[in-house]
This record gives sequence, structure tokens and C-alpha cells, in this order.
Amino acid sequence: MNTPLPATLLADLRQLLGHNLSTDDGERLSYAYDNSRRQALPDAVAFVTTHDEVEALVRACRQHGVPVIARGRGTNTTGATVPVNGGVVVSFERMNRIVRLDPDNRLAVVEPGVLNGDLQKALAPLGFFWPPDPTSSPWCSIGGNLACNSAGPRAVKYGSPRDNTLGLRAVAGTGESFRCGTYTTKGATGYDLTRLLIGSEGTLALITEATLKLTPKPSGLRTMRATYEDVGSAARAVARIMAQPVTPCALEFIDDVALGLARAHGGDSVPVAGAMLMIEVDGEPSALDDAAHAVAQAASGHGLMDLSVARTAEETALLWSARKALSPAQRTISPHKINEDVVVPVSRLPELVDGVKRLAAQHDVLIVCFGHAGNGNLHVNLLPRNDAERTRAEACLHELFALVISLDGTLSGEHGIGIAKRDFMPLALSANTLGLMHRVKDAFDPDGILNPGKLLPPRL
Ligand SMILES: Cc1cc2nc3c(=O)[nH]c(=O)nc-3n(C[C@H](O)[C@H](O)[C@H](O)COP(=O)(O)OP(=O)(O)OC[C@H]3O[C@@H](n4cnc5c(N)ncnc54)[C@H](O)[C@@H]3O)c2cc1C
Repeated sequence: MNTPLPATLLADLRQLLGHNLSTDDGERLSYAYDNSRRQALPDAVAFVTTHDEVEALVRACRQHGVPVIARGRGTNTTGATVPVNGGVVVSFERMNRIVRLDPDNRLAVVEPGVLNGDLQKALAPLGFFWPPDPTSSPWCSIGGNLACNSAGPRAVKYGSPRDNTLGLRAVAGTGESFRCGTYTTKGATGYDLTRLLIGSEGTLALITEATLKLTPKPSGLRTMRATYEDVGSAARAVARIMAQPVTPCALEFIDDVALGLARAHGGDSVPVAGAMLMIEVDGEPSALDDAAHAVAQAASGHGLMDLSVARTAEETALLWSARKALSPAQRTISPHKINEDVVVPVSRLPELVDGVKRLAAQHDVLIVCFGHAGNGNLHVNLLPRNDAERTRAEACLHELFALVISLDGTLSGEHGIGIAKRDFMPLALSANTLGLMHRVKDAFDPDGILNPGKLLPPRL
């Protein structure tokens, strides 16, 4: 049960935000949960619109030791925006201006509530894009993308938000405003606080403005689909593709179990194979044939069953149909799917997939593996169909993470930690590393008011 907000704090916040502060029960309920399906009621929801409001709000909450939970659109999968200790949810959805598009310097300055998809639409007529491309792009905010270091298929070539952000403006848990980073593509002026804040899940500071690095949009795209007899052959092809000079802009893997599921849902257009790669190459039309040829050669080798190249938009859609059928197929089978996004070095993908098959048999749970193979980042989705399977799937998780760490991998490639993976952090990071992270947290947020209970496990 939450302690209600102190009356003086409530009065201060009402004065600061007027009708943009809500303590209405319905509104609190709407901001209690996120895509993790966990929930806990906040005491109030603040719809901030300016940096100064954020600063004043954090200062006021700090005085009373009240938690402050930043929120974009709540699409994260890890419970990162669930106000587990109550407090004030700070929604950035009304702080959504594109402040400046500056193609000459290849940058955009945006407020955190801008949706990823809206930014891409604004950039397209200028011939640019911002590379981070989560599938949720039409519904997720730039602030959320930065705070989770979210990416998607394009990260294999263009990187994640850490590689595509020049600078930030933010408010620390102390209530202090600061800027970090640069408006330039080079900079060697002190510690890199920009990269530190990216991926910090609202536990160090609230981001109020971001300077994003833009990339010119290539005008050509070629899509290929390669099927293999087994996972090992597909994984070796991934290593070969990544070892030659033409980096694809998507290199997605689907294992045999996921293909079977997609076929049952999507029909005969989904191939029967031991594993499949979806490969995309982008560039200028004059160079595209050579680039596609180089990648196709690398994809060919022992275990290849078929390599199809799309020549039209319809053919491209057909090749992607297996991947597209996968999401609805998983939902139909298991409304309680456990969605992980582990990462291993590319050469260890076969060991990961073999290990997952072993765990699936041992715990008698359906598990599918698919995702961003070029980064070694696989969505390992556990699909329990009833309560008994759900209990077994939870038990399987610990062994999955232990397997990933034993393969020199890590817990999350793009979804982050939140509450869901917080207690597994000691598997991935040593006590000394976690101790340093706690001390960094103390420097930004000495009273621990920013997004408490997330990312870092309790101190030893
Ligand atoms: C259908 C679907 C597909 C998805 N596909 C992908 C995918 O392909 N790749 C991927 O990486 N993720 C994916 N996700 C997960 C999710 O969309 C991303 O994590 C996204 O970046 C979250 O953005 P959001 O605006 O919803 O943030 P929220 O969920 O609201 O917040 C996420 C985190 O960011 C913090 N935060 C938000 N705004 C700020 C701010 N201004 N300052 C400081 N901290 C802040 C929050 O406190 C929280 O810790 C998917 C989700 C769905 C529902």
C-alpha cells in the first residue's frame, strides 16, 4: 500500500503543473502498468511539458523523498516504468516537440516524448533517418529508446542509440540540470556521460532533450532469404557474412521450432528448414548488385538449402512472411510468453541454440529462438501454455541466463533490465562492478528517488 503524497508536495506540484498533474484513480491506473504486464499504482501522474518543470518537480520530490518514475509510452518489456514504490510517474508524452532538424550538421534536437516513428517521418523528406528502429517504432518514444538503448534489425550495420546520440540535456536525482555530449560528431572533452545515461532506465537522470546523430537514407534495398539444413550451418553463414566487408542492414535468424510455429500459422509460404536467415543489404542502386552478390556468396556454403533474392516489393513481402507470422503465432499459443533478448558472440550462436533445445526438453517447455543474428542477439521466447508450464518456464530462466554467461554473452541486447532481470545481474557482473555502479547511482541520485527498484539489485 502506498503512502499518499505529502499535502505540501501535492500543493507544490499542483501549483507547478496545474491540470497537467493528475491524482485521478482512472489516470493512476492507466499509468500503473507497462508492456511487462506487471502493475503498481503511482500516487500521481505528471504530464510535464518543459525542462524547467522537470527540474522543479524532481527538486520538490527529493525534498520529500518521493519516487520519480520517468515514462515514455510504457512499451518496455521489463517492468521498467512500473512504480513499484508508488510516487510520481512523469509522463513525457506531452513534451514531444522536434526542436530542430539540422541536415547540414546531420543532427536533430528533440524532446524525449517524440515518437520514434514520427521522427523518422519528419526526417524522410530530408533524405535522413535515425538508425535505432525497434519494431515498436510507431508507439515508442525517443526518451524510452535512449533510456533502454533500444534497437532493432538495423543495429547490425548502424548501431544502437549509444552509437547514434551526440548529446543530452537532463535533470539528475539531485534536481540539478546538466548537459552532456556535443553538437559535433567528434568530442574528447571529459567523461562520456551521454553513453552512461543511455541504457540507465531513468535511474540516474530524466532526459529532457536529445541531440541525435542522423544518417543519410540509402535509396536501394535488396532482400534475401537463405534456408539451411541445421542451426550450425546457418550460424556459420552468419559468421562468414559478418567477416566480409559488406555489412548487411539486417541479418535475422529463425530456428526450426520458430519456423514450424510460423508455418502452422502463416501457411505454406513459410519454408521447411533447419534454420533460416533473412538478409538485407542497402546502398545506392548502382552498387547494390555487387553488395548483394558479396553477401550471397558469404551466405552460401555447407548446409545451404536455398537462397532466394526478391526482385519486387511483392517478393520481398513474401520472403518476410515467415518472420511476420511468428509474432501472432506466439501470441495464439501462449498469452504468457516470456520474452528474452540474450546476446552471445556470433560464433557461439550454435552453442546457444543447442543449449536452449536442451533446456526446452529438460523443463518440457516450448522455446523458440529468432532475432538479430548479426549481433548475436537472439530473442529466446519461452511459450508456456498453462500454469504448470509457466512455473517450469520460470525455473528454466535461471539456467538460460547461466548458459548465456558461460558462452561469454550477456543478459540483454536491447530490452534492458528493469525489474524482470534485476536479480540476475550478479550472474553477469562482478560484485566490484555492481559496487561501482551503485556508487555512480549515488552520485546522480543520492536519495535513490529515481525509478527505485529497477536495474541494480539491492546492495550486498
Ligand atoms: C510490439 C513491441 C515491439 C517491440 N520491439 C522492440 C524492438 O524491436 N527492439 C527493442 O529494443 N525494443 C522493442 N520493444 C520494447 C520497447 O518498445 C522499447 O524498450 C522502447 O524503447 C520503450 O519506449 P517507451 O517510450 O515505451 O518507454 P517506456 O516503456 O515508457 O520506458 C522505458 C524506460 O525508459 C525510461 N524513460 C522513459 N523516458 C525517459 C526519459 N525522458 N528520461 C529518462 N528515462 C526515461 C523509463 O523510466 C523506463 O525505464 C517492443 C515493444 C513492443 C510492445
